[in-house]
Amino acid sequence: MKEITSHRIGLEFGSPPAKSGKQDLRRRNTLLLLHLIQSRGPSSQAELARRSALSPAAVCGILQPLIKTRILIEEGKSAAGPGRRASILAFNPRAAITAGVCIDLEECEVALVDLSGRVLDKAAAHFPRYTEPDEVVDLAVECLTRIEKRNSLDRSAIVGVGVAIPGLIDSRTGLVHVAANLGWRNVQLRALFEQRLGVPVRVEHLGRARAQAEAIWGKGKNHRNFVCLEIGSGIGAGVVTHGRILRGAGGSGAEVGHMPIDSAGPDCACGLSGCWEVFSAGPAIRKRMARKLEEWAGSPSLLNPMSALSDLNAAYESNDPVAIEVVEESARYLARGLVGVIWNFDPSFVLLTGPVVNDCPSLIKAAQRIVSALTGKARSFEIPLIIGAEHAGTGVVAASAGVSLRYLEELASVKDAARAPFGSTVRLSGAPHS
Ligand SMILES: [Zn+2]
Repeated sequence: MKEITSHRIGLEFGSPPAKSGKQDLRRRNTLLLLHLIQSRGPSSQAELARRSALSPAAVCGILQPLIKTRILIEEGKSAAGPGRRASILAFNPRAAITAGVCIDLEECEVALVDLSGRVLDKAAAHFPRYTEPDEVVDLAVECLTRIEKRNSLDRSAIVGVGVAIPGLIDSRTGLVHVAANLGWRNVQLRALFEQRLGVPVRVEHLGRARAQAEAIWGKGKNHRNFVCLEIGSGIGAGVVTHGRILRGAGGSGAEVGHMPIDSAGPDCACGLSGCWEVFSAGPAIRKRMARKLEEWAGSPSLLNPMSALSDLNAAYESNDPVAIEVVEESARYLARGLVGVIWNFDPSFVLLTGPVVNDCPSLIKAAQRIVSALTGKARSFEIPLIIGAEHAGTGVVAASAGVSLRYLEELASVKDAARAPFGSTVRLSGAPHS
């Protein structure tokens, strides 16, 4: 996996510039420097000049207003070397921070995440399956209020809240068309959160949120064509093509989990049958395990119908015959869908993230072997299948990624950052985001 060697931002975001000229050049350079601090973490001005290929004077000129307004603060000094030790600049978590909310089947997790993707604090709440959206939003807001208090943080420092959720999501409007596994339909989730928080909110599909996080902080950094798969209670994808997240006409593109694999397959929550996720997501693997245990009734096995996916992995490693059948059959279905993904999007690589990937690495390895052994008449399928970055793969960090990107874009567009009263003009808008 070769990184792009230039200083270009791998993931493009926002609309193309309306006008070119000096002002636009400054906006682009500001965005580049902010993006470098976002993705590489706290940095000295010399490092930023080197990485951006801008002159030290230009870097200083661009960053000074942001230091004056305390959007950037000094976070220690560089290691001793020849000459004066340089200040390390970081985003000020007391002035500009995001919150990430990740909602899944029976849990929501909430975290304060700085603009460099560092989690400052987090809290979680559990709820019974099929809890109403209103109640889940209340729980998430309670979590956020708790961690704000714990950190003596004023809500005005939060520039935006990112909510990541599996399902058919239109991130432009914040509408959850269907989150079948939660039992939600036509929920204006962004409005529900904004009414309670008074802070701009972005709702994003979990797979696309993970792809954004991988693009900024993880293994997708500086790459412009890749697919990030989230394999958990369903299968979601974020497809990055030419540096942009693929959204489609209706805002819910690349729903690969509902790619038909076998029309004679089990019913899917989407209303069709035989979709990829009813063969390969976590619940499908557990159902297969229960079925195989029945078929092998009377034979000794390390598994039982309540075994977790991590138990399945351990049993497979111990050569348990039931586990071997479950893992190998599941791997064949997983590989089948992966080939579909490769054909459709022609990515440089596929990143695999989510609970199934974390809990059952033997399944992923088996699927990797199957996919890389395939060679059709038209192409080989030896596309790297890579486990996603641990940090970027955290649901709450993924949830915050879109907000973080959007905020930096708006910050870079402010004509005079020194005159921009922080928290008022420099504020994340709820406008659609490409
Ligand atoms: Zn489906």
